[in-house]
Amino acid sequence: MINRHKTTSVKVGNVPIGGDAPIVVQSMTNTDTADIEGTITQVAALAQAGSELVRITVDREEAAKAVPYIRDGLLARGVDVPLVGDFHYIGHTLLADHPDMAQALAKYRINPGNVGFRAKRDKQFSSMIDMALKYEKPVRIGVNWGSLDQELLTHLMDENAKLDQPLEARAVMHEAIVQSALLSADRANELGMGADQIILSAKVSAVQDLICVYRMLAQRSDYALHLGLTEAGMGSKGIVASTAGLSILLQEGIGDTIRISLTPEPGGDRTKEVKVGQEILQSMGLRAFVPVVTACPGCGRTTSTVFQELAQDIQNHIQTSMPLWREKYPGVETLNLAVMGCIVNGPGESKHADVGISLPGTGESPAAPVFIDGKKAMTLRGDNIAGEFQQIVQDYIEGRFGDT
Ligand code: SF4
Repeated sequence: MINRHKTTSVKVGNVPIGGDAPIVVQSMTNTDTADIEGTITQVAALAQAGSELVRITVDREEAAKAVPYIRDGLLARGVDVPLVGDFHYIGHTLLADHPDMAQALAKYRINPGNVGFRAKRDKQFSSMIDMALKYEKPVRIGVNWGSLDQELLTHLMDENAKLDQPLEARAVMHEAIVQSALLSADRANELGMGADQIILSAKVSAVQDLICVYRMLAQRSDYALHLGLTEAGMGSKGIVASTAGLSILLQEGIGDTIRISLTPEPGGDRTKEVKVGQEILQSMGLRAFVPVVTACPGCGRTTSTVFQELAQDIQNHIQTSMPLWREKYPGVETLNLAVMGCIVNGPGESKHADVGISLPGTGESPAAPVFIDGKKAMTLRGDNIAGEFQQIVQDYIEGRFGDT
């Protein structure tokens, strides 16, 4: 049982974050926001994949002008996902000069390390908060150690050097990241923004640093927290590092919304980061998004590829059917299926699933017992085991989740 760290609830568009709300999966486009059609297409794909918020870069005039058209284009396609504007350096100017953009966005992301320097910093930060207050939008104060407030870091390093027993430089860095977020939130409070309009994040690229800074943030505040390992990397490295860091924090009840920052392969699918985020939450029992297929890894007892193909077929069938199932069969995402390779663990694991099949391993008789709700229901034989099993699953879904 996970006890969630109690945070203040924030509403981003129609999506609640923090408090008792389910942990939200979000993502970010990598299109040029000035490319209206391209950005609409990618936001729609991310939303279709299950992203509950989508962040877009607003880095210049052309991007700011495009935002309301993107919003309208998405609504015209029936996509009502809240858009978050990612601002750096000139966000204060863009928000002031483009009221339609300021209104079209559901949240503003402010990086305290990138809102100007020295005397200008407070003015520019204040102006962004004023805009958020004017348009009644929440903000994410998003610290990133790649753009950490260098004045604050230098100040803390100097103070640390005066101590009898100075801390390690890494510990000072963690403190600077946390302070940058908390001091900015304090300043937003002074300017009239409530905790119910503020989400904090403090992204770093190493797992141990991530765990450390988020524990500190959770200990020292009740703001809703956005979790993510920044620059996680490509492929399995990015997935594993993100999963390792986020799982530990989520297990400790820390985190109200997550993003998995995967670097896609050239031309790769951006929606993968959404799927990975969902899989982390579902694996941990925190949310259910799609039916789970438990499949054994196979071993020397499965010299044919039959069971791998069946597991793959079922997985693909779920993937393609899910948009329809979601509408037609409420609760179908809690379904558990099992596809097992032989008699050793097959019947046992299949009995634990809602619907399970134990395929014949090498040397076993060519029969595949199917278990439904823990009981052996039938045995499949012949060349069409995959097709028949898919039909059994479909019938089960219809019977359990369809209109009665
Ligand atoms: S269930 Fe059978 S085939 Fe699958 S890993 Fe276990 S022993 Fe191997």
